[in-house]
Amino acid sequence: MKYEGMIFRPPSEAESLILQVTVGCSYNRCTFCGAYREKTFRIKRFEEIKEDIDEISSYSPRVKRVFLADGDALIIPQKELIRVLSYLKEKWRGLERVGIYANAKDILRKGVEELEALKELGLGIIYLGLESGNPEVLKRIKKNATIEQLIRAGKRVKESGILLSVTVILGIGGVEHSQVHAKDTAKVLSEMDPDYVGALSLMIVPGTPIAHEIETGELILPTPFGLIQELETMIENSHMTRCFFASNHASNYLPLRIQLPEEKEEALRRIREVLKKKDPALLRPEYLRAL
Ligand code: SF4
Repeated sequence: MKYEGMIFRPPSEAESLILQVTVGCSYNRCTFCGAYREKTFRIKRFEEIKEDIDEISSYSPRVKRVFLADGDALIIPQKELIRVLSYLKEKWRGLERVGIYANAKDILRKGVEELEALKELGLGIIYLGLESGNPEVLKRIKKNATIEQLIRAGKRVKESGILLSVTVILGIGGVEHSQVHAKDTAKVLSEMDPDYVGALSLMIVPGTPIAHEIETGELILPTPFGLIQELETMIENSHMTRCFFASNHASNYLPLRIQLPEEKEEALRRIREVLKKKDPALLRPEYLRAL
């Protein structure tokens, strides 16, 4: 398998075979993201991808899950993606699910029918980075999508029947936008109505534009308890029909794994208890936090 550079995947794809079909991120300019800064974006040729699939299938006859890397692999033109998914299906008859990262524009470039066609071929989950539902914050972090586009993209995935997993980032609005970021994000999540939400806490990657904003004092990070207050506001104001909400990513101070709406009240009770005690011993220690 010929991986180029560092490979990232969602925590829930830990058991999946990671197949790199693109290198880097086609946009690569979000101010907080250092994942693909060193890579020059390109879509791998089908022959390269096929070579990797052939190699793995020669010693792994049974693969159940595949995750297509890197940053926004859904940018691959429909015909090419169909070719990759068809080949995966041909090689592994028992393949249950293929996952992929996508940004809003990648999704909106495809119609519902095109997404449905990908679903038929095994694409089972799309991971979309929302980060914030606040327009000012999105502009500041150079997300390259409007709220309206993000909502439309999320709804389109849902309409196609593909599972939608959305990432949001606690602390990304700084102290200044802390609560409005949490409220607006809850509002957008409620409109998208995703199947999964993954809440991360902002971790500063050296050399990124956001690291510079912090150095110059342009952006002030909320305290760990400030981040938990954002989590409280986000959960309190979210109204999803059926969603698994997780804040168990290694970057978070308070790990939660809850089914919404069923476990909302219990989660809020737990969060409020932590906020009332303000005891740092109740939080994940700083040295255990990671991206
Ligand atoms: S957050 Fe996503 S879209 Fe933004 S630069 Fe990183 S990989 Fe690309």
